[in-house]
Amino acid sequence: LNVLLIGSGGREHALAWKLAQSPRLKRLFAAPGNPGIAEYALLCALDADNHAGIVDFCRREAIDLVVVGPEAPLVAGLADALSDAGIAVFGPSKAAAALEGSKGFTKDLCTEARIPTAAYQRFTEAAPARDYVRAMGAPIVVKADGIAAGKGVVVAETLDEAIAAIDACFDGAFGDAGAEVVIEECLVGEEASFFAIADGKTAIAFGAAQDHKRAFDGDTGPNTGGMGAYSPAPVMTEAMIERVMAEIIRPTVATMAARGTPFQGVLFAGLMITAKGPELIEYNVRFGDPECQVLMMRMTSDLLDLLLAAAEGRLEGEMPCFRDAAALTVVMAAKGYPGSYKKGTPIGSLAAAQAVPGAEVFQAGTAITPAGLVSAGGRVLNVSACGATLREARDCAYEAVAAIDWPEGFCRSDIGWRALG
Ligand code: ATP
Repeated sequence: LNVLLIGSGGREHALAWKLAQSPRLKRLFAAPGNPGIAEYALLCALDADNHAGIVDFCRREAIDLVVVGPEAPLVAGLADALSDAGIAVFGPSKAAAALEGSKGFTKDLCTEARIPTAAYQRFTEAAPARDYVRAMGAPIVVKADGIAAGKGVVVAETLDEAIAAIDACFDGAFGDAGAEVVIEECLVGEEASFFAIADGKTAIAFGAAQDHKRAFDGDTGPNTGGMGAYSPAPVMTEAMIERVMAEIIRPTVATMAARGTPFQGVLFAGLMITAKGPELIEYNVRFGDPECQVLMMRMTSDLLDLLLAAAEGRLEGEMPCFRDAAALTVVMAAKGYPGSYKKGTPIGSLAAAQAVPGAEVFQAGTAITPAGLVSAGGRVLNVSACGATLREARDCAYEAVAAIDWPEGFCRSDIGWRALG
């Protein structure tokens, strides 16, 4: 089979690494890819916004499956353009991608399908939103409706903070994403990321992970795209996974199908495990980055088979297999991230890190120059490892981190602390 992978991050490097292990893979293309992905794929300079151009490329290269990594092309309707052209694509339609594109859309779906989630109200004007938070009191959560790269959510400890967040949204701090505001009850519990694969009708569990959003040790510092992750998540027991499938994932897939907008792709549920049970915080319509890296490290069955089965509506009876072992990934970022940082700083000794048994280095923001590999973004490397226990995986990942020669990079030293105690 010929596969085209869309994206350029650590998530896509992990997907490429895993797809390349499939005996059914003939040729793998990536657009735009990165130097790590280039080890497994032919990189092509396709513009993800040019849907007609991607369709043409797929016809020319006899692509059997397109795998879309990031959310932006899905929200923009790339999957629709491919399906309309008769090309199999793993990833939801534009209508189904609203599960990530609009928080209000997802909250209303939760009401319709009786999915446990924080109590909420949607607002398109500031005055009634302010009245609502005054009536509800703090703590309370204020969210820009659309995608704002994680910056559109404020967990307000005080009324003043909540009102400032409402005003920021309606004053245009998040552009169109803040034209509507969702205000919700503040949930208390442990957070976990849960992944399911859906084919429009059937959904199957694909595993759980926990990530670390804050930049520095001890969960301090600013929010980031994610500084590390591990899988499995101890809080997601077999019984909890069954509850999440029954109470959250299957009702979502059934309701989307009944509405005539079936969901096909990865359903990534951000969960809060509260005293009452699991509650949905948000949906994403793609793999998490860096959660994908740890799931790929643990998966033993064929990823290509599974994604093609989802794209073709044949998931019933499929059962992805995972090692019981644990996996952990440490994100190495450019000093200064998530604020301003330098690009183009030299990275050495990746081969030494790769040589650590059980370790795998996935590349995110890297570039290749005549002088060698350099940084080209904020989050740059995902140093990942598998181990019989989480402690073993962590020790192995940090051994590989220590082997890397990148003076301009930094990482957290405590990935996995919550599960390791
Ligand atoms: P964006 O859409 O701007 O990219 P996001 O998708 O990351 O943001 P959410 O996942 O909805 O936004 O929220 C971000 C974080 O805020 C969550 O991971 C969680 O820690 C916290 N949070 C969100 N909603 C609640 C809630 N109702 N109660 C408690 N904490 C919450």
